[in-house]
Parts: sequence; C-alpha cells; structure tokens
Amino acid sequence: MLKKTISTLMLFVSFQVHALEKPIKNGRLEVICGSMFSGKSTELLRRIKRAKHAKKEILSIKSHLDTRREEFCITTHDGQKQTAHLLSNNMENLSDSITKLSEGVDVVGIDEIQFFPYKMISIIENLIEKGIIVIVAGLDLDFRGEPFSIMPELMAKADKVHKFSAICSKCGNDAHYSQRIINGKPAKYDDPIIMVGAEECYEARCRNCFETHKPQITN
Ligand SMILES: [Zn+2]
Repeated sequence: MLKKTISTLMLFVSFQVHALEKPIKNGRLEVICGSMFSGKSTELLRRIKRAKHAKKEILSIKSHLDTRREEFCITTHDGQKQTAHLLSNNMENLSDSITKLSEGVDVVGIDEIQFFPYKMISIIENLIEKGIIVIVAGLDLDFRGEPFSIMPELMAKADKVHKFSAICSKCGNDAHYSQRIINGKPAKYDDPIIMVGAEECYEARCRNCFETHKPQITN
C-alpha cells in the first residue's frame, strides 16, 4: 500500500516538474480572408497597430506582386498604410530572409499571403514554433471562385480564421467573390490566376451576381 502511494506521489511530482520545464509558447496563426474590397488589409493593420500599442516588436511583409499604391507599404483602400518589407515570391532564400528579419520580433503580419509559394507554410510554422504570432491576410478565392493557392491549408492550420465580406457591386448583398473584368466583360475561366501588369479591374460580387463560366463536368 505504502509502495503504491510513494510511486503515485513520484509520478505526480514528475508531471509537475515536466509542466514547469515546458516553456509556454504564445505562437499562433491568425488568418484574415475574404474577397477584394472586404477590408482584409484594414483588419491586418488594425491588429498590427494594436500589437504596437502593446509594445510588441512587429515585422510587416508584403509580396512584390502587390502593386497597389506605395511599394514599401501595406496600404488599404481607405488610405491607411504601414511600412513593410517587400519580398519576392521567387526568392530562393525566402526562408532565410524571413528568419533573419524576424529575429527579436513578437508579431509578423503578412499581406496578400495568397501570392506566396507553398514553402511559406513551413516558414510560418517555424515562426509559430519560435513563439511568434503570425497574422496573414489574403484572398480565399481566386477570380474563378476557386480556393486560392496556399489559402485552404493556411485556413485549416490556423488557430483563428476571420472571413470578411464586401458589398456586391451589382445588388448590394454580401459579396464573397472577386469578379475579374477585362474590357468590360467577366474574364474567362481558363485565364491565368495571376495576371501581372494586365489591364484589368475587379468587382466584389455575391454568389448570385458572380459570373464564372466554369466548364460543366459531364459523367
Ligand atoms: Zn449581387
């Protein structure tokens, strides 16, 4: 009986010591997603500002494919901005660059995350492992209404996902789609996902007003 009590006590002590030894990690992933004009960058900047007020060290990153307004800033449609490091998607040393930039940082904010390559997922996981809070903003659906590159996996792995909607440019309902317009007409379904430098524009559309022209699958 005494032997059993001592061994139970030792097991309890060993659990307590283990709990004390294990460092508390604050790292997590928050994903802000939605269509164009849904306020994703505004929400990202709001969270960055909040972290700054809390005296956290911030690293802001944007993709070189984000050609809106100022090159070295995350900008919003309502004129807010935040200085950011411009990183190229094709960088061979993307992981090394982010590791170096994130030294001593508490929060990493990344805008237009959907433009980054697949290896960005493991880079983000490494940041989280180091105790860094990673907040990313990006389009969950491409112009065809299909999941956009790395977004589904990021959303699945996130601690929190915030999905934003815009206002449909046709009817005023909640819009979750980004309609690509070329020469006044909806783009073709088989157009490239990313058209760099193309003369195009986008409208937020609801499910009813979104025109996709998706090829029908016949059995
Ligand atoms: Zn509509």
